[in-house]
Amino acid sequence: MNVCFVTSECVPYVKTGGLADVAGALPAALSRLDPDIRVKMFLPLYDRIPVFDHGFVHADDLGELSVTLGDDVVPYHVWYGHLPGSDVEVYLVDCPRFFHRGTLYTDHADEARRFVLLQRAAFDIMQRYAWSPDIVHANDWQTALMPAMLRHAYGWDDRFRHTRSVLSIHNLAYQGLTDPHYTWEAGLPAERALPGGAYHHDGAFSCLRAGLVEADQITTVSPTYAAEIQGPHLGCRLDGVLSARRDVLTGILNGVDTAHWNPRTDVHLAARYDAADLSGKAICRTALLEEFSLSAPPDVPVVGIVSRLAEQKGFDLLVPDLEEVLRTRDVRFIALGSGAPWLEGFFRGLAALFPDKVGLFVGYDEGLSHRIEAGADAFLMPSHYEPCGLNQMYSMLYGTLPVVHHTGGLADTVTDLHEHPGRGTGFSFHDARPEVVTATLHRMLDTFQEKDIWRAAMRRAMQQDFSWDRAAASYVQVYRRASN
Ligand code: ADP
Repeated sequence: MNVCFVTSECVPYVKTGGLADVAGALPAALSRLDPDIRVKMFLPLYDRIPVFDHGFVHADDLGELSVTLGDDVVPYHVWYGHLPGSDVEVYLVDCPRFFHRGTLYTDHADEARRFVLLQRAAFDIMQRYAWSPDIVHANDWQTALMPAMLRHAYGWDDRFRHTRSVLSIHNLAYQGLTDPHYTWEAGLPAERALPGGAYHHDGAFSCLRAGLVEADQITTVSPTYAAEIQGPHLGCRLDGVLSARRDVLTGILNGVDTAHWNPRTDVHLAARYDAADLSGKAICRTALLEEFSLSAPPDVPVVGIVSRLAEQKGFDLLVPDLEEVLRTRDVRFIALGSGAPWLEGFFRGLAALFPDKVGLFVGYDEGLSHRIEAGADAFLMPSHYEPCGLNQMYSMLYGTLPVVHHTGGLADTVTDLHEHPGRGTGFSFHDARPEVVTATLHRMLDTFQEKDIWRAAMRRAMQQDFSWDRAAASYVQVYRRASN
């Protein structure tokens, strides 16, 4: 089976969120699962990707190529390499005019056009190599036009006659709303993006909606999120389309890339450990506290946060009460994140007010995210919604009990310790209200004093199977359904 996997980000090259983790792990897991699955991945060459460090070579056999976007002939080059430790082939689309913008995503007027170029280039490269994929696997709005292009822009090409499409939604809230004019450049029927058309949404051409109506199969990253997005609360006004297509919509929980996230082997940690011997975790905890010039006796819990500071993540729920919690309870908070200035300001304010209790790093730091997962006792994720969420899974594998809102992938992965005493792996709350989050924090802090209960939960959490092999097998089933 040939799979064309198209994505706007991928670990280890470039990452802003969970999509990059999926792109870095799923294609490799697919080819591990079945050597007959051959994956070619297509990704933009952003200015921040050091091609030579990652072993890419210029595809001299292709030379300079171009895509015609309306009246504009856009030249590009291709770099070729392999995803580390796998035989997944990676093609980087090198077009500085479109992809050298300092950041992956922009608010520039041509944002959608940048990704139209990526998608047209992916088809172009497949044609030049005379490669026929069985499946085109698109991800989020940036590549959601692939299914529509397959039908309309490239429907004439016999090479794609048997190709079917899968669209994965990693976050429904980002929809790629743009000018209907771009249908022309993408080779799609213009009327579909106009009012009343299938691609029209919120007064614009919605790249994501186009994918949702045209893909043969749709997946999203957890079973609970798959159900939630069919309703008005989390459906982002696409719930009608999604429930109409529920027969082809599957929720598949993301896996964890244990090559990077495994406390037994993690190179970022002061010590390594596992469920049988937790002594290394105590060393990680001390090292983490020292890194932030904090100290805490063993009976004072350390609560970690690693997150984009976006509205979605629910930190607004902490605003009314967290100061009081810090004033009245013996606890340490260590937070890593960046994003909305007002949320950064909120955490900076707490760090200034409680210098002995709060450690904060505003920014993005891969190594520190590992050290927090290992060094903390509990991990806070009060997300309003969470398609899958990775950090709660990392936390559990690192013996760090998550405190989460019972939504999306958080609901599918974290079992509340008091609702299910013999099975619990963390703490969850159903109502996303500040007083409920605060009560759950108090419940966690109290439970931390019950050492036997806490330790048993840690061990259960660490022994769970979040492997990509399980997820990859489910994707293969989806590919087969798309092909039937
Ligand atoms: P989302 O994709 O919505 O951001 P996920 O939990 O699915 O949320 O994935 C977030 C990923 O990004 C995780 O791997 C997490 O460790 C990482 N991450 C988020 N913020 C930071 C940060 N400031 N520094 C390092 N890693 C971060």
